[in-house]
Amino acid sequence: MKIVSVEAVPVNLPFQEPVSDSWGKYESSNHGIVIVRSDSGEYGAGEIAFAWFGGAFRLCDEVNEMWAPRLIGMSIYDTAGIIALLDSFCPFSKRHLLAKAGVEMAVWDLIGKTLHVPVYQLIGGKQRDRLKLTGGFPMGSVDRMVEGAVQRVSEGYKELKLKVGLDDNRDLEAVRCIRAAIPDQIQLRVDANMAWKNAKRAKELIDEMVEEGVGIVEQPLPDTQLADLAWLRDNTRALILIDEGVWDVHDAKRNLDSRAADMLHVYISEAGGIAGSKSIFELAALHGTDCTIGSMPEGRIGAAASAHVAAAMPNLSNHASDIRGFTAYVQDVTNEDLIISEGYLQVPKGPGLGVTIDFDRLEKMRR
Ligand SMILES: [Mg+2]
Repeated sequence: MKIVSVEAVPVNLPFQEPVSDSWGKYESSNHGIVIVRSDSGEYGAGEIAFAWFGGAFRLCDEVNEMWAPRLIGMSIYDTAGIIALLDSFCPFSKRHLLAKAGVEMAVWDLIGKTLHVPVYQLIGGKQRDRLKLTGGFPMGSVDRMVEGAVQRVSEGYKELKLKVGLDDNRDLEAVRCIRAAIPDQIQLRVDANMAWKNAKRAKELIDEMVEEGVGIVEQPLPDTQLADLAWLRDNTRALILIDEGVWDVHDAKRNLDSRAADMLHVYISEAGGIAGSKSIFELAALHGTDCTIGSMPEGRIGAAASAHVAAAMPNLSNHASDIRGFTAYVQDVTNEDLIISEGYLQVPKGPGLGVTIDFDRLEKMRR
């Protein structure tokens, strides 16, 4: 069974509300929807989710013009050969990992749909039916953030995540006010997105936040400060979750070898897809380290692929993952929605990734 076409369709996914972090504010996200077809007539769907620097449109052009002709004619089951070819397109630029992920997850979806099995079945089997999620809310005034936190708790989320890093005093006040407004058993995590630069200052902030019940600090320092991150691990009570520092398995190795991480936050897009994510989980397992899954945020196709990885990996952390970013998009290209209830994402059912494309809507959303 051969690949007969590969197309990356540029689409613009609008956010319900602008999304902000310590880098800026975004109104929408430019993505690519990848469709890989085989000579059986079946198709697989993937997603290039790239929120920054103008998004995925340039990557779509590269996939269509340069990658597709090389992929056409390959067996859909030759995942190792396909991944090796995709790797050969990626060596000088990490952003190409996002295009690799889009194509690669489409191939897994195509295999699953062809064999009538879910993708999790192809990568180890389903270890769990539902995935614990963090409840997130936008950065803003302390009052708005408290409102957001209370709202997420009322929706059933057991672990909340707030963005910090723009204003130390505001961050500490937000943590204190949120803690006071939510039940004790709700866990609290902060994400600094590398905004803190000095390890000693970061320790002071983390120590104060731990007093308010913060248990996990996500990427407190830049990804380059591996020795400082290891020092923070040893000298604070918070778990250090490495996010920006880990794209692919090579990054994971560097962080694990440096003892910089209590946990790794794996993004299906940054890891170059499903097999790349699995490699990171497997390497982390050798170090006795668990992983959580992040969100670019991908839309429903990328989120479904993330869910299949999360469902199948034995060392998915008991702490929550972020596979809820898709809820930020007003409109998407899939027929099915993904179901979140009581703070858990249900693992999609059905063959392949468990989602299908509404091709009429895709044509309307094509840019
Ligand atoms: Mg993060």
